[in-house]
Amino acid sequence: MEPTREQVRSAPKVLLHDHLDGGLRPATILELSREIGHVLPVDTSAEALGDWFAAAADSGSLERYLETFDHTVAVMQNGPAIARVARECVEDLAADGVVYAEVRYAPEQHVEQGLTLDEVVAAVQEGFDAGVAAATAAGRPIVVRQLLTAMRHQARSMEIAELAIAWRDRGVAGFDIAGAEAGYPPTRHLDAFEYLQRENSHFTIHAGEAFGLPSIWQAIQWCGADRLGHGVRIIDDITVHEDGSVELGGLASYVRDQRIPLEMCPASNVQTGAAASIAEHPIGLLTELRFRVTVNTDNRLMSRTSMTSEMAALVEAFGYGLADLRWFTINAMKSAFLPFDERLAIIDGVIKPGYAALIDA
Ligand SMILES: [Zn+2]
Repeated sequence: MEPTREQVRSAPKVLLHDHLDGGLRPATILELSREIGHVLPVDTSAEALGDWFAAAADSGSLERYLETFDHTVAVMQNGPAIARVARECVEDLAADGVVYAEVRYAPEQHVEQGLTLDEVVAAVQEGFDAGVAAATAAGRPIVVRQLLTAMRHQARSMEIAELAIAWRDRGVAGFDIAGAEAGYPPTRHLDAFEYLQRENSHFTIHAGEAFGLPSIWQAIQWCGADRLGHGVRIIDDITVHEDGSVELGGLASYVRDQRIPLEMCPASNVQTGAAASIAEHPIGLLTELRFRVTVNTDNRLMSRTSMTSEMAALVEAFGYGLADLRWFTINAMKSAFLPFDERLAIIDGVIKPGYAALIDA
């Protein structure tokens, strides 16, 4: 039987790919922009502003999509504002039933008003700590870690990688690169990835969202990525024959054999055109083929989504049951950049009992 939306909401969920600057509450953007005198395209109400973000992200224009981040990043340029956004992020995720999350952002985008990179990371951590305390007090315990992102078109990746290592025991679990794939191959940042490997650290790379197999191949075989951000284009290396048999190319085989986690973000992929619809999203076939598939939100504000919405949409499109949602969730927890014993404690102590209670009910 397909789970109800309420069951999906109450089920424990794990989120590995969520952008801090893509998940602000519209009401918070309104308040923070008034405080600093930032001009928004719409400022009549939080609802109207939320509509503007969703419409811009849905427009099919990359320029309009990217413009949305100009406004969220603009209101996140001082410590208290960043800490507030980080705290609200944790509270929103916990209220949605997320029990473990890795939330990413690019520190280099928050230094326009004079903050140092270190102060940006500290402000985010302050907000996360406050959010975790508030969620715990509300009876919704959650564990949250930061991922530090470097922008692939910029040249600060080594600096950001060093920042991730400096904060590794204070809330930062890993590193990521993001931004336009075309023209900016991940190999531009090879020194940062090699440094992180020598430090026994972890990183994920946005790859194979729009650009295709070469980007995925570079991320894994040249850069040594632990996980793939999106990775939807791995489907281009898989052939489904007329008789239903499936053939995997060398790269797709490697990704499946090595259990390389795919951080799939269905709603976001439909908005950017990486998939035509949820029902046609490669996540269906990749799940059938038992790739290490995880479900994620990417940008909750722009995609008007949540972990509950993402999973409910998959239930509707593919008929998944609670056992499938538990599989995605355990896949994600296994793939987290958290020490093994801490991952196991959440799987055995929170995820399995949470789903068992729902399945038995
Ligand atoms: Zn992303």
